[in-house]
Amino acid sequence: MKLISAGAAQTVTGSCHYFEINGLKLLVDCGLFQGRKEVSDLNLEPFPFNPSDLDAVLVTHGHLDHIGRLPVLIKQGYSGPIFTLDSTHKIAEVILLDAAKIQNEDYERDLRRAQRSGREHEVQEPLYREEDVVATLKQFRAVSFEKALDLGKGVSATFYAAGHILGSAFIELDSPDGRILCSGDLGNRESSIQADFKLPRPCDAVLVESTYANRTHRSLEATLNEFGQVLKESLKSGGKVMIPSFALERTQAILYNLKKMQERGEIPKMPIFLDSPMATKMTKFYENSANEFIPEIADALKQGREPFEPQTLSYAVTVEESKNINEYQGQAIIVAGSGMMTGGRILHHLKHNLWRKEASLVVVGYQAEGTLGRLLIDGANRVRIFGEDIQVRASRHTINGFSAHADQDDLLEWLNHTEKAHIYMVHGEVSVMTEFERILHDRGREALMVARNQPYLLG
Ligand SMILES: [Zn+2]
Repeated sequence: MKLISAGAAQTVTGSCHYFEINGLKLLVDCGLFQGRKEVSDLNLEPFPFNPSDLDAVLVTHGHLDHIGRLPVLIKQGYSGPIFTLDSTHKIAEVILLDAAKIQNEDYERDLRRAQRSGREHEVQEPLYREEDVVATLKQFRAVSFEKALDLGKGVSATFYAAGHILGSAFIELDSPDGRILCSGDLGNRESSIQADFKLPRPCDAVLVESTYANRTHRSLEATLNEFGQVLKESLKSGGKVMIPSFALERTQAILYNLKKMQERGEIPKMPIFLDSPMATKMTKFYENSANEFIPEIADALKQGREPFEPQTLSYAVTVEESKNINEYQGQAIIVAGSGMMTGGRILHHLKHNLWRKEASLVVVGYQAEGTLGRLLIDGANRVRIFGEDIQVRASRHTINGFSAHADQDDLLEWLNHTEKAHIYMVHGEVSVMTEFERILHDRGREALMVARNQPYLLG
């Protein structure tokens, strides 16, 4: 059994793992490299395998860093099936079409600039266009959790719930040569909406994500208490409360908790606006899949109730509806993307409200270096939005406990069930994996940091 990682090797984006098992050529995930230019330029490198030679592609979940290079694979000749959960297929459609749109908008903008300086030959073509995404989506084939899928040559794949986002799975690859596990991204067992990940079976080799392998998340109870306190305090000042949020998972967790707080009378029943067409679509997908959630949500969905929709929720889908939120004079909670405030409709709300001392910004997600979100939580007094200089007078709050990723305890618990399997660490920063390797070593487990494009013999 052979492995070559073409992404998420000593970094957290670009997940793409190639296997040769009993003569079968498989790929698990084909994600986009995201972040600064040196990283995103890796998307232009050739794959360390021939896409047209692959027998099957398996996808763990719908985040862009796990699916964002699938259209590249198809453009380069892969014409076989892409196996994943049906909900991941639906999520992938939204995410990949959006990615194609953004890439093409960036390309058009860069091209216009380059034309003015006579350097249009230097502008990088988009990785793919909408029609490539449409062709990719046609190759998706639905699988179910915990039902072995025969891939031929004695190899089978079984998907198990990973508890990370809707449709997320870890994948077991069985063959006469042994069993390999690919963790994908594992969920936080203290998620307020997603049921816990399933426990794996003993295996010969395990590829494990290590995003937060060096930390322990704040407990769910402490996180929700803090969130409630911050909201109560923010609402006292009478202004708008802005919650920038990722469309997938974080928005649904926030809506679910806002609904519960309103029902318990902890916060007033004031208008809540979800100002994000993408988050609106994702919320509908969440409402159509009861089985992956905590019992309270699963039961509500089975009874036809809407656990992700507070009574006072309005969806702002059109631009007009979004603009109307600014006209609204009363107090309101606005949930909008993008999560790191690098684009999207949250920018309009920030522009209209950050300068008001009665407004509040409540940050519920990770803010990467170099983003507007990071500037704001680091205390910047002035920021530029749409070319305007905005003074920041609004109060700012950061809630750190919401996470869709397993922490160190979660990872150790999951790995415990893989018994003596050799551990291959992926999807993590080098410093984090170095620390995790030591912790695993102390527990009698051997772990290795996978290097990109290097072949490894497994089992
Ligand atoms: Zn993920």
